[in-house]
Amino acid sequence: MSRHIYRPMLAKVAEEAFSDKDWVFEVKWDGFRALAYVEEPFSLKSRNEKELKQNFPELQELNKLASNIVVDGEIIVMREGKPDFQSLLERGQAVSTREVERQEGRAPAVYIVFDILEKDGKQLTSLPLIERKKILQDSLKEGSNVLLCDFIEEKGEAYFQLALEKGLEGVVAKRKDSQYEEGLRTGSWLKIKKLKTCDCIIFGYTRGTNVREKTFGALLLGVYDKEGKPVYVGKVGTGFTQRTISILVDKFEKIITDEVPFEPEAGDTVTWLEPKLVCEVAYQVLTRDMRLRMARFKRLIDDKPPEQCTIDQIIENKKTAASSAEKSDVQRKVEDEKLSEYVSKRHFEETPEPKGAAEKKDDKLIFVIQEHHARRLHYDFRLEKDGVLKSWAVPKGMPEAGQKVLAVETEDHPYEYGSFEGEIPKGQYGAGTVKIWDKGHYETKFWEGDKIEVILDGKRLKGRYILVRLKRAGDKDWLLLKGKE
Ligand code: MN
Repeated sequence: MSRHIYRPMLAKVAEEAFSDKDWVFEVKWDGFRALAYVEEPFSLKSRNEKELKQNFPELQELNKLASNIVVDGEIIVMREGKPDFQSLLERGQAVSTREVERQEGRAPAVYIVFDILEKDGKQLTSLPLIERKKILQDSLKEGSNVLLCDFIEEKGEAYFQLALEKGLEGVVAKRKDSQYEEGLRTGSWLKIKKLKTCDCIIFGYTRGTNVREKTFGALLLGVYDKEGKPVYVGKVGTGFTQRTISILVDKFEKIITDEVPFEPEAGDTVTWLEPKLVCEVAYQVLTRDMRLRMARFKRLIDDKPPEQCTIDQIIENKKTAASSAEKSDVQRKVEDEKLSEYVSKRHFEETPEPKGAAEKKDDKLIFVIQEHHARRLHYDFRLEKDGVLKSWAVPKGMPEAGQKVLAVETEDHPYEYGSFEGEIPKGQYGAGTVKIWDKGHYETKFWEGDKIEVILDGKRLKGRYILVRLKRAGDKDWLLLKGKE
């Protein structure tokens, strides 16, 4: 019998720490997630099933501390009392035995174990977490490179504060009664991370849609660089109360200007404002192109002069994302969040569909149209955006000139789905044959809220296509039409 390869259970993002007697809290370790198969042969597998044992020979210590178990944990490298992600990345990239040995001596890794999935050939995944924790404690001794992850019950807020004071990333909250749900990102595990904040100048706003049609969509944020030049750092479209929206709209009216401080993003329709309003924005990460990701509006700041909103607020944070390898890891984490619905719908032992770990290979934006012989034949139209493929199912196929067809929005797909063809087995989500009907590059003419306009450059299709959301028909329904050239 071949060995069952487990897929790690994932955590959803929660915005705030909380305390609850039905939950336990652990430190969120910023390292490589890894499942250890402590058996013959020993194996240490990354999230995307890459073998890690050659790179971390010191973790073979596990074989002396336990036998016949499968455990879940995080590999970290500690430096000055904190996990150092950069050193860890270098360990992961080492290829030659000599390099591995050199790094092992310089930056030894620690494997922090927080869960047990199997013991003596018996799966434990359906047991409640709190019982698995007990079994783990009885089954694995700690060593010089292997530690059991501490956890506390109930007091999540205090633990979160403590973690931040120690300079750690945050905490993970887990329901005591939760089963180990392989490969899924359910609400039973939540990660709570410290948000960074930045004081930004509101340089303009995009047009609103739906309930915000009469106010604004998102605010365009900027800061000043060393020469005093405005620099765009992204948009914020959430976190507003009704009252804040009306206050902002009142203020906006008086300061509308024709002066353009920086180039807007392709597809944005912007109303520019004089640089007079300052707001505080919380965000998760700074992307490689200097944008605040997952930004959330916190408050308007009345008493800070705009010229004091300078770029060093975020550059300081950027230091921690210095190497390009690390930046792409941050990027990968953000993309993981977007693919959570895609991942949660599929069983990757059963379906040949991609899991979503590959890197983008192409400089240009790609599109793909897949002919999908599912329960009903339809065509899946996918456009690459922000690292994933935005997707629509088009029952009637791509429209001819002058034709309008329905396109139903579906979950974001991973980038490498763009080259997927194959048979999704019976009983799986979307069972049936998938064939690539057309594929190529595209250019964005307009992309905002409920309207998208692109120029496709494929083998079969070339030219302008327009997607417009059908407001009254529910959020997921769009009209797809072929535009005039
Ligand atoms: Mn489909």
